[in-house]
Amino acid sequence: MLTRQAQTAVTTALVPRARAPGTLLLVQDFVNTRDMEEGTDELARPDSLRGWLAGRGLLPVDAAVGTADVARAAALREALRTLLFAHHGEPADAGAIGAVNRAANEARLAPRFADAGGYRLEPGAPGVGGALGWIVTAVSEAMDAGTWERLKACRNDACQWAFYDSSRNHSGSWCRMAVCGNRMKVRAYRRRRREGGQRRPEPARPVRGPGSSA
Ligand SMILES: [Zn+2]
Repeated sequence: MLTRQAQTAVTTALVPRARAPGTLLLVQDFVNTRDMEEGTDELARPDSLRGWLAGRGLLPVDAAVGTADVARAAALREALRTLLFAHHGEPADAGAIGAVNRAANEARLAPRFADAGGYRLEPGAPGVGGALGWIVTAVSEAMDAGTWERLKACRNDACQWAFYDSSRNHSGSWCRMAVCGNRMKVRAYRRRRREGGQRRPEPARPVRGPGSSA
């Protein structure tokens, strides 16, 4: 007999989270380097940040990476997460947009035109600043492709995973309905019951007779 925790772990492992198409997957993976539920961060140290970026071909394996780069990567990642929350229908946060613009400036993103036609934004800066520029490029490409607004952050506060909303009407709220969706529904149900329970025992009003003074 499995404990409830083990059952949850099994369910979690069995239900895959939707992955974004094209280069938007880079943005999704970048945001998900911080796992809220596990309490882990793949970019927390200079060497792990270098490993992550080099593993995707965005940075030479021997590039110099410092603690300022770790802070820079975290700032871009959390700004992107904030923008992914806005994809549930809220206005985008100006501070988060400012942080993405800063990353674009630091990367010195500029259009590079190809012989075959078309162009792409490419970073001119070296190091981590330039590597993070590729993530901003992927955001701009997703905007052009019309897929950006479908990358969302899970509305389960304990999760906040970046997921691709493949629902037909783009109304997905949770990375996995079977896990986060159910958890949030149970929580909302309990809250309603609690609030309903507080409201119900209203003090009985005194029955005022004709001679009552108040
Ligand atoms: Zn979730």
